Amino acid sequence: MLSIQNLSVSYGAIAALHGISFEVGPGEIVTLIGSNGAGKTSTLRAISGLIKSRGKILYQGRDLANLPPHEIVAAGISHVPEGRMIFANLTVAENLAMGAYLQKDKGGIERDRQFVFGMFPRLAERRQQVAGTLSGGEQQMLAIGRALMSRPKFLMLDEPSLGIAPILVKTIFEKIVEINRQQGLAILLVEQNANLALEISRHGCVLETGQIILRDSSAALRENPKVRAAYLGGV
Ligand code: ATP
Repeated sequence: MLSIQNLSVSYGAIAALHGISFEVGPGEIVTLIGSNGAGKTSTLRAISGLIKSRGKILYQGRDLANLPPHEIVAAGISHVPEGRMIFANLTVAENLAMGAYLQKDKGGIERDRQFVFGMFPRLAERRQQVAGTLSGGEQQMLAIGRALMSRPKFLMLDEPSLGIAPILVKTIFEKIVEINRQQGLAILLVEQNANLALEISRHGCVLETGQIILRDSSAALRENPKVRAAYLGGV
């Protein structure tokens, strides 16, 4: 479904990604793990068209590299950014409406809204609440809900567990699996909680200083001594 080929990103003289390649199959969850500054966020931002890149980003056979972000969303790719980036002064309902800005059919938008509310009942209860007053976990739910409102076929999540109470992290990961199963959505997951991410994904890539040093099934990565020592707390 998505084939990244020889993707490079630089910020001025600083090279953040050095020609990485990986694939995400239809309906698959793939995890990208790596330490701070490895290039995980840059990978997602390049796919979303938020930063310039070199190399190919083939999505259903079409090269999306360097297209403007709205065309990437229109192609069916949605990005839940690190730090959530919700509209803090708007209500939950207004944030969700923003996610649907490319959709024209009112019936479809209402169905999507009901799907999001069904997935996250807390958002339904708080639909008139100003988003900036939600807890971190609720804001993450809203960010995911807003991304779903663009009716994606491919979802990218950047550190969904960041700054969230452990009990809600578990809920959010369960929901990620549910969304993947119910909608058949392919998901690219960037996550510092590598244990959890490798539990729910089929494949994983390990990124180190802008290069992919390992690519394997998540089960194999969880058994890999190097991965265990560096990313799984040596357990
Ligand atoms: P983290 O988990 O800390 O967010 P990451 O794996 O997502 O890390 P990136 O944010 O992609 O890593 O950063 C990769 C490299 O690019 C780092 O060396 C970082 O300092 C650099 N970088 C990222 N954004 C910029 C920017 N806007 N300007 C200059 N350098 C940047």
